[in-house]
Amino acid sequence: MKTQPFKFAFFQDSFVPLEDAKLSIMTNALQYGTSFFGGIRAYYNDDDKSLYVFRIESHCERFVNSAKLLGVTLPYSASDLHGIIIKLIKMNNPDTDVYLRPFAYVGNTELGPNLANTTMDFALYMIPLKEYMPVSKGLSLVISKWQRVPDSAIPTRAKASGGYINSALARKEATDGGYDEAILLRQNGNISEGSAENIFIVRGNKVITPALSEDILEGITRRSIIQLCQDQGITVDERVVPKDELLQADEVFLTGTGCQVAWVHSIDKSVIGKGKIGPITASLQKKYFDIVRGVDPDHSEWRTRLDLQK
Ligand code: PMP
Repeated sequence: MKTQPFKFAFFQDSFVPLEDAKLSIMTNALQYGTSFFGGIRAYYNDDDKSLYVFRIESHCERFVNSAKLLGVTLPYSASDLHGIIIKLIKMNNPDTDVYLRPFAYVGNTELGPNLANTTMDFALYMIPLKEYMPVSKGLSLVISKWQRVPDSAIPTRAKASGGYINSALARKEATDGGYDEAILLRQNGNISEGSAENIFIVRGNKVITPALSEDILEGITRRSIIQLCQDQGITVDERVVPKDELLQADEVFLTGTGCQVAWVHSIDKSVIGKGKIGPITASLQKKYFDIVRGVDPDHSEWRTRLDLQK
């Protein structure tokens, strides 16, 4: 996926042209993964020519909480981050869907991985982004041979960069084997999540997803989908999901800021349900896309509308 980034970024406390946002190869975060990140989408609505940022408050809050989980200090509050994000979007004035990447990192060049007494540096950039993974084709998944890194080793809720080696290995396994994505199991063999997505299954008229105890990232899309299910009177079970339950599911789908809501066609080459998008997934997917783009007025509290210059 190659996409041209937008012209301006935020770096070292200022808004600068992206090409001026450069770091030394000695940077601690580059050497040891001592950093964490976020990922936010904003959707362009062609009808009213405005951009809708999706759940910016929740993303800023999670970002600030990542610092807490790692025991480091951030130079900005959630509301400062909110302001920086909005200002950068306005400076870049997009007329397309975008993805924003806030990034907090250990910017010193000292030897040795250490987060003690650390104030993180902060950077933000944005790129145009349509699909990260296909949402209408039906994904083919593989159960990874790599186990999901446990919360007791790296706090999985912190979106810590170093932990994403685990995701990258699983993703490589999927790509090398000709699959779209990998699902990682916990050490006890139960399902955790995808390399950068939460997973849901549908059995009968029940929606099921691994509980927060299952070494997952507490996805903001996951939370939104649970809310949409509840709005429609669909029960959501957040619980332990044994691996075998996946193959017995009527429907399986993935959620995430990147992948949005994407249905799954097969897992380990075994076709899920009828081999086409199921009715519950289809209805949640439509509702989600209509809400994020501001086509459906529901959950207006999830959208921050920006009128951009023409
Ligand atoms: N799990 C992991 C490991 C992720 O990196 C992501 C992407 N942020 C998700 C799940 C989905 O989270 P969200 O819906 O907040 O993007």
